[in-house]
Amino acid sequence: MSKRVKGIGLLSGGLDSMLAAKVLVELGIDVLGLTFVTPFFGAAKGFAAGERIGIPMLALDISERHLKMLKNPRYGYGSQMNPCIDCHGLMLNEAGKIMEEHGADFLFTGEVLGQRPMSQRRDAMRSVEKLSGFSGRILRPLSAKLLPATLVEENGLVDRARLLDIQGRSRKRQKELAHSLGIKDYPQPGGGCLLTVEGFSNRLRELFRINPEALVREIEIMKCGRAFILPGQSMCMVGRNEGDNLKLEELAGEGEVLLHPADHPGATGVIFSSPQPLQDLKTAAEIVSSYSHIPGNSTTRIEWKYEKQSGIVAAEARNKDDFKQMLIP
Ligand code: SF4
Repeated sequence: MSKRVKGIGLLSGGLDSMLAAKVLVELGIDVLGLTFVTPFFGAAKGFAAGERIGIPMLALDISERHLKMLKNPRYGYGSQMNPCIDCHGLMLNEAGKIMEEHGADFLFTGEVLGQRPMSQRRDAMRSVEKLSGFSGRILRPLSAKLLPATLVEENGLVDRARLLDIQGRSRKRQKELAHSLGIKDYPQPGGGCLLTVEGFSNRLRELFRINPEALVREIEIMKCGRAFILPGQSMCMVGRNEGDNLKLEELAGEGEVLLHPADHPGATGVIFSSPQPLQDLKTAAEIVSSYSHIPGNSTTRIEWKYEKQSGIVAAEARNKDDFKQMLIP
């Protein structure tokens, strides 16, 4: 019995990658979907997409490698901190390793020529391929007929005639294809990656500026609540709600100062990404006091902990506008 052709595809959770996988399934190809985890996006949407079209899925945590790339992407950033060309190249490089481990024949993506300004131009797709280290083995079923034939098409493992020639920004053909393949329930395009979000990107730029060595844990802290740059050039997060506060308590570790009101519930704060975080203690305590909404109290006792040290400072609750210059928009 001849071995079945096997393809490993990136499934972000969007319609295009679902369609690409489904087109291949219809051609009798064994498909495995791969989805990735970093601090900026997770695997849930990819898994949900895989489940909808009935293919097996695998999730890979590439947080550390992705963060290293993010600090210095060869092809730069998109409109925000999204290094899409390098990001795709990295994901396909990881996918290629899985392809070799699984003895699969090729990789595929749901990319559509000309659909996204940064990463889905013809030259960008070539750059992605080069970065991945798997040139000639990456099939884009939705635009394949408009692109040079891949090795799997040349070797007759996938019938090029049955692939597609979709291009451009319109979603019309994808919607028709979804209908004909029986895919009814799919998410709208966009969303899902924090690196494309302006507010998040502003914080990340500031974090890399004050601490180029920032690690995954610092990024996780930076995701909770409001972000301030304090006069001593440390960053301070202040929880907006109970969920943020709990997360900050959980994440604050060595090298970070944890603050919260000593006598009543209120906002939790964390000073981080500074070699001397205690020099910003007073300002951080004032911010925590001001964001803790204690009517009638002009001063709040703020408890702090830093490694083996701890203490209480009295901090004035000020008008929040006083901290506007420090707040990252
Ligand atoms: S949008 Fe985010 S996840 Fe998608 S390629 Fe760009 S950086 Fe990577």
